[in-house]
Amino acid sequence: MSSTFTHQFDTALFKGTITVNTGLFIDGQWVDSVSKETIDVINPVTGKKLTQVAAGDANDIDIAVKAASRAFKTSWGLKTPGHQRGRLLYILADLIEKNVDAIAATEALDAGKRFAHAQREVQGSVDVVRYYAGWADKNHGKTMETSEEKFAYTRHEPIGVVGLIVPWNFPFSIATWKIAPALATGNTIVLKQSEVTPLSALLLAALVKEAGFPDGVFNVIPGYGSTAGQALIEHQAVGKVSFTGSTFVGRKIMETASKTNLKRVTLELGGKNPVIVFDDADLDQAVKWMTFGTFFHSGQVCAASSRIYVHEKVYDAFLERFVVAANSIRQGDGFREDADQGPLVSQTQLDRVLGYVESGKQEGARLLAGGTRSEGTGFFLKPTIFADARPDMKIVREEIFGPVGVVSKFKTEEEVLELANDTQYGLAGYVFTQNLNRAIRVSSTLEAGSVFVNSTAATAPQVPFGGFKQSGQGKELSEYALEAFTQVKAVHINLGMTL
Ligand code: NAD
Repeated sequence: MSSTFTHQFDTALFKGTITVNTGLFIDGQWVDSVSKETIDVINPVTGKKLTQVAAGDANDIDIAVKAASRAFKTSWGLKTPGHQRGRLLYILADLIEKNVDAIAATEALDAGKRFAHAQREVQGSVDVVRYYAGWADKNHGKTMETSEEKFAYTRHEPIGVVGLIVPWNFPFSIATWKIAPALATGNTIVLKQSEVTPLSALLLAALVKEAGFPDGVFNVIPGYGSTAGQALIEHQAVGKVSFTGSTFVGRKIMETASKTNLKRVTLELGGKNPVIVFDDADLDQAVKWMTFGTFFHSGQVCAASSRIYVHEKVYDAFLERFVVAANSIRQGDGFREDADQGPLVSQTQLDRVLGYVESGKQEGARLLAGGTRSEGTGFFLKPTIFADARPDMKIVREEIFGPVGVVSKFKTEEEVLELANDTQYGLAGYVFTQNLNRAIRVSSTLEAGSVFVNSTAATAPQVPFGGFKQSGQGKELSEYALEAFTQVKAVHINLGMTL
């Protein structure tokens, strides 16, 4: 049942063959979708079709949720002790590590990433899965004495079937950020990856099977958001949804959860992240980090550091160097050694970002670099810089999710903090200064879930990640994510005879 996609790479950076099963993965088996519909998978570098995968919808989601419910009751959840769950996660981490290059190649091909970046991301997933493997037998409750004759204890119990929904910008790593804590704490999973980048989650499913997880513990349904995604968030037997994607869809998820079974919800949403470059910053360092933080993965990064405020004393010098750096970025296929930056993920995303470029021009921001498509095929947009942006401009207020840096000038710390926090979002913030007191003061005042001093975004398994304000609810990674996948039960014990 179902088909496979085989692709042979003969590039400077990777030589080898990948084979991906393109069906749905339900109850440990590869199957076609009930409707037999498929989704085309497009190579963003060429704009041409690579393959197609099965398109699941409400029927398939229902079958998968039922399989996950059975597995939760019979072979996972409270039936499998933590150390056994941990052992399987360690095996999974080893298998991912053994296949880093194949997974990275699949991810780079599907999402238009640089192969070297994809390798780093997949290795990061190995670290995350190992981190939660270690937690699997350590996430226990507490004992409380309530009187001489009574005590209570708490249990950190799994929720049951959890629905995981992931976007297209970091399909593999974001999936593992959710899967690892969900499995470590004893939940079973129905994962719906993005219809734009479905391939790497299907490779992951094959590795889960090879690792020996019981059937039904992990199910993957490629499908569209409006069909498969919607069915997952509406399903009465799903106890929790962990979602990463746009604020627009995040809002729908909360609304649906409230109208169905009040399922728990974790949301990792969009960002419009401020960067503050003070006049005492090491300017070369600031430009180096900004060039990476703005243009890495063509700016399709929720924590992109692309709303940039520069002190008036160093504004012109910063812009001059930033423009030189942006213009020297070499675009191309991520499997070429000389390519620094790949394309946007799709025609839709390219059109969306070009719309923002147009609006920046119309609203009077000064275009200093890029702003146009690159020559050749694929969804490439040149690294783009706008200067002299005003707070009311669309390019300052809305998440662009493309290779576009938007730079404004400021005079005082007080003024720039007002500007930085003047947003519905609160995912990340960045400070460039050599004054430690200022760095700490500004970090405390920025309304953001993560603040980075003298660098751009980075993640580590033991550090929480997640937004303030409309950038989300709940945390991923670290010990905090365990809370997102467990519910605390209090058990009261009476040893005495008195009422
Ligand atoms: P999106 O919201 O369009 O889609 C995300 C996922 O939701 C996809 O799998 C999609 O199929 C699904 N979906 C769409 N409609 C749905 C519905 N009605 N019900 C259920 N599922 C539905 O986002 P995207 O375009 O894939 O990704 C880009 C967005 O993701 C950006 O806003 C970015 O900031 C955000 N993001 C946030 C983080 C974070 O950690 N905060 C990380 C990466 C991306």
